[in-house]
Amino acid sequence: MKGVVIGAGIVGSLIARELTRYGFDVSIIEKEADIGWGVTKANSGIVHAGYDDEPGTLRAALCAKGNAMYEKLSKELDFKVKRTGSFVVAFNDEELEILKELIKRGETNGVPDLKILDRDDALSMEPHLNPEIKYALYAPTAGVIFPWDVAIAAVENATANGAKLFLNEKVVDIEVKDGRVKKVITDKGEHEADLVINAAGLYGDEIARMAGAEHVPIHPRKGEYIILDNKVSKMVKRVIFPTPSKKSKGILVVPTLTGEVLLGPTAQDLPPEMKDNLSTTAEGLNFVKEKVIKLMPNLPFNKTLKTFAGLRPESPQKDFFIKKSDKVWGFVNVIAIRSPGLTAAPAIAKYVVEKVIEEDMGITLEKNESFNPIRKGITHFADLPPEEWNEIIKKDPKAGKIICFCNKVTEREVIEAIKRGARTLDGIKFRTRAMAGRCQANFCTTRVMRVLARELGVDMSEIMLKSGNSWVVDGKVRR
Ligand SMILES: Cc1cc2nc3c(=O)[nH]c(=O)nc-3n(C[C@H](O)[C@H](O)[C@H](O)COP(=O)(O)OP(=O)(O)OC[C@H]3O[C@@H](n4cnc5c(N)ncnc54)[C@H](O)[C@@H]3O)c2cc1C
Repeated sequence: MKGVVIGAGIVGSLIARELTRYGFDVSIIEKEADIGWGVTKANSGIVHAGYDDEPGTLRAALCAKGNAMYEKLSKELDFKVKRTGSFVVAFNDEELEILKELIKRGETNGVPDLKILDRDDALSMEPHLNPEIKYALYAPTAGVIFPWDVAIAAVENATANGAKLFLNEKVVDIEVKDGRVKKVITDKGEHEADLVINAAGLYGDEIARMAGAEHVPIHPRKGEYIILDNKVSKMVKRVIFPTPSKKSKGILVVPTLTGEVLLGPTAQDLPPEMKDNLSTTAEGLNFVKEKVIKLMPNLPFNKTLKTFAGLRPESPQKDFFIKKSDKVWGFVNVIAIRSPGLTAAPAIAKYVVEKVIEEDMGITLEKNESFNPIRKGITHFADLPPEEWNEIIKKDPKAGKIICFCNKVTEREVIEAIKRGARTLDGIKFRTRAMAGRCQANFCTTRVMRVLARELGVDMSEIMLKSGNSWVVDGKVRR
């Protein structure tokens, strides 16, 4: 059966992998030049514990489940998850009542080991918290990931199991005949399809409209962030939330996998036509600072590394919209995947295949006996014991040639990223962490460009930062 997955975000990538487990002939179509460059690229990166979502919703059902699935998934696909744990802090007894509500919700949602700590216990675990806090809800199962790592790993594994990946290809129409999906039409050609999975993130409503299928309207809700240098990593061990409001989880402090500290996000609703508005604003960033100072008054803003924004795919019904179409046979919506979409993604993939495709659509799943769930990530040599790294350098000197000094990334790693499909500077950055360190690419951009140009056999002037016309040299443009 031919299955076309539209969108190589974390959701589409994991669904594509799940489909290869059952022998579907899978094509993944992505309009960007790389995997995970939509909503998956810019967010808080938290694997939420699962106490926040309204029981009875799909978000609640799939969040705690997805959280638990990350253990096995990260081993199979060789990406990092750090179980930092999280605090929701309360400054008064009114907020304590909300923490108690969250514990009740968490217990209903199946979240283990939640407890409320008093001020002294919380401060002994997180000494840089505002000493005026009174309580903290501790959730030990919360953690952090780099979400694009998960998407890249899932696509690499899906393609190793037979899926085909089409990048730089935008879906422009969907052909439906006699009430069934027939073809997915792109700006490059056509893909025959018996099954179409709409995992197009912010653009999911537009894709559903192309097929004449049911959908919910999607508008972007912008979240602005500040990232602090990893010099401050020792100040924050866990993800810190304020007591949540009805609209959002609030402004957070998040220790990342590589030690930087993420502050944000804001929550600003934008009209549907602004789905590519990723600008940051003085107003948004000042709001982040103001709220962070209340949580952790001593965080040094003079260690700011960069700022960025992400866009949540919001819809009026608030819950994920994961359903087969009743109008168009073979069309499945997996849209409005707002937070906790990263956390839920592994559980969403299983739900789509086992509940929607097998149970609701009545398609028989036949196990692909040759499915191999294992994928090996790119080795970051600086993480190895020095003796082991030395042995590797003896066999391959490129494994000893540092390209990015901040994050100690070698030429071997950059070459490996290119072999696995990186074609742009961002493609290298998101696979290796080169250019993502303290100097923010000032020292290593040209070194990475030289390796890209040499390995791809192109001129430096052909190298792009990301998708579109983002050439870096020759006066062509434009960061
Ligand atoms: C500010 C913010 C903070 C968040 N924090 C968290 C968090 O801490 N924890 C958590 O669990 N979740 C969080 N989320 C939610 C999470 O990021 C999303 O739920 C998740 O990334 C959605 O993934 P996706 O694959 O559905 O969408 P995307 O990553 O957007 O993937 C969709 C893909 O479809 C492609 N596409 C679109 N249109 C077309 C077309 N016509 N043709 C071909 N391809 C197309 C896009 O380019 C994109 O790559 C946050 C989100 C935001 C914005």
